[in-house]
Amino acid sequence: MNRLLRNLVWQRADSRCEYCRMPQEFTDAVHEIDHIIAEQHHGPTTPENLGLACYPCNNHKGPNIAGIDPSSGLVTRLFHPRVDLWAEHFYWNGRGE
Ligand SMILES: [Zn+2]
Repeated sequence: MNRLLRNLVWQRADSRCEYCRMPQEFTDAVHEIDHIIAEQHHGPTTPENLGLACYPCNNHKGPNIAGIDPSSGLVTRLFHPRVDLWAEHFYWNGRGE
């Protein structure tokens, strides 16, 4: 991945994790470039398929593209930062839970 593409991802995300929105300056672990659709699922290394993720989010997500929704029990596609609106999927409750 070239520097231009890395810079685009960091700048577009404003140096925040695109899953939990944690700013880079809040953690010592350097945020990572995430293939939203993992390379093992043939996700390309293109701006549309790359996102910025903090270490805990990227480590938890791994190469997964879906999970089991705990409330419905159904297989559900994971949040996609280029397609989905963050505020429709997440919120801050202010208690760190
Ligand atoms: Zn995160």
